[in-house]
Amino acid sequence: MKLKKCTVCGTYTLKDVCACGGRADTVKPPRFSPEDKYGEYRRKLKRGE
Ligand SMILES: [Zn+2]
Repeated sequence: MKLKKCTVCGTYTLKDVCACGGRADTVKPPRFSPEDKYGEYRRKLKRGE
């Protein structure tokens, strides 16, 4: 089974449908993700830079 994440509430689940009724999508590997730069941005914010 693959870990999935609800597109509505963001809860991680193994089911296709979250407990909240939202659709759950397979979690993509972070590498090659276009969101990586935002992840770095968030980490900088967390450090207070
Ligand atoms: Zn949900």
